[in-house]
Amino acid sequence: MSDLLSLSLTEALAGLSSRRFSAVELTEAYLAEMTAARPLNAYVLETPDQALAMARESDARIARGELRPLEGAPLGIKDLFCTKGVRSTAASKILSNFVPPYESTVSAQLWRDGAVMLGKLNLDEFAMGSSNETSAFGPVINPWRAEGSNRALSPGGSSGGSAAAVSARLALGATATDTGGSIRQPASLTGTVGVKPTYGRCSRWGVVAFASSLDQAGPIARTVADAALLLRSMSGHDPKDSTSLPVEVPDFTAAVGKSPKGLRIGVPKEYRVEGMPAEIEALWSQGVTWLKDAGCEIVEVSLPHTRYALPAYYIIAPAEASSNLARYDGMRYGLRAPGDSLREVYEASRAEGFGDEVQRRVMIGAYVLSAGYYDAYYLKAQKVRRRIADDFTAAFDKVDALLTPTAPSAAFALGDAKADPVAMYLNDIFTVTVNLAGLPAISVPGGLDRTGLPLGLQLIGRPLDEETLFTLGAAVEKAAAFTARPDRWW
Ligand code: GLN
Repeated sequence: MSDLLSLSLTEALAGLSSRRFSAVELTEAYLAEMTAARPLNAYVLETPDQALAMARESDARIARGELRPLEGAPLGIKDLFCTKGVRSTAASKILSNFVPPYESTVSAQLWRDGAVMLGKLNLDEFAMGSSNETSAFGPVINPWRAEGSNRALSPGGSSGGSAAAVSARLALGATATDTGGSIRQPASLTGTVGVKPTYGRCSRWGVVAFASSLDQAGPIARTVADAALLLRSMSGHDPKDSTSLPVEVPDFTAAVGKSPKGLRIGVPKEYRVEGMPAEIEALWSQGVTWLKDAGCEIVEVSLPHTRYALPAYYIIAPAEASSNLARYDGMRYGLRAPGDSLREVYEASRAEGFGDEVQRRVMIGAYVLSAGYYDAYYLKAQKVRRRIADDFTAAFDKVDALLTPTAPSAAFALGDAKADPVAMYLNDIFTVTVNLAGLPAISVPGGLDRTGLPLGLQLIGRPLDEETLFTLGAAVEKAAAFTARPDRWW
């Protein structure tokens, strides 16, 4: 593997600006590695011509001394983001031939800042899943393997392609989205850093919608500093998204490396769930010790409605999904199956175009929104959502951030959880509360389990206080000194 690939984004940008190597050289190293790593199935589309054209443009700018903030940085884009003139599928058969005539705001801002597009990354279909197994392109394989085993593991989901690519050195960083945990859980399962920003921090314009009141874009990166750099470019008010917040984007990188001394950290007692593996519990305590040693004050807090979060999420998210996905009718774009009447075309196109999990969600969503059940399910779930948000508001009166595990387990084998959708939904137990409350959170690698697989710690912050999360995340990163890398078996 080329040495260039072992650089972090921060290091690579320094090397590019001091002309130790060119953007074309860096991009070529990534493109070669992507070819070698095709068995991981992280990319659903490679865009080498585009990548090299963008890299040449970066080199020209570097020569002229006109550097933009991410000049020459090769990135992967989750295939949920629309990219102009480049096929964008949401990993669904129904969008298998969709070439958007526009660019998502988030990806446009990365290109505005000089980043280079390597290709489009695999995901669970319409971002619905926690293992990447619902993708119409087949699952992504986690670059990590348990010691002494060659069983294929899941990289988590839905941003499994993004997490695997960053972990396996197939991109310097990647875009991802998080509706119930899809940035943080795959980051935890692959030893990478994932940030789910405050709802409204990043524009949703041009991101294929799953559950609009929960969806949020964010970066997956190798280090906390890299994530801060990427988020700075991805964030900002966008008049094209009515839920985008009209607030300034702070320089998140300035928060990295600041002393966390004096910050109060809450440990929510309800997150100590039954059946939690001892190793997750141990890592969590280790995280508490690290932050205490760094000068933080640790406070036990209560989030009493936590146990209603998963049921509420699995009503609200499918409800919004069923309404968002009504647009895929075989008429305007995407797959169209033959039929004798309009209704038959609708039915056949949707039956053929959507996979099982997506159909399951559409049915659940239509059910909980139907006239007779709306009050019992959807309305009730909305009330629970309010309670969950209120729990956090009360906790943030006492503390500056919360520390929890990111996911209830390390990477699991492909196929293991697939048969039981409810078991799969349990993956989101520590992450969905954050989306329901619209809060920012970060997952940082904390250590390895006894089979050598990465485990992440999650920090949850106040609305629009990503900066505190970057400070704390960097402190955890420093204390954990996580340097493990997956063996390159592919
Ligand atoms: N695993 C969750 C789900 O399937 C979350 C997915 C996501 O965040 N996009 O709904």
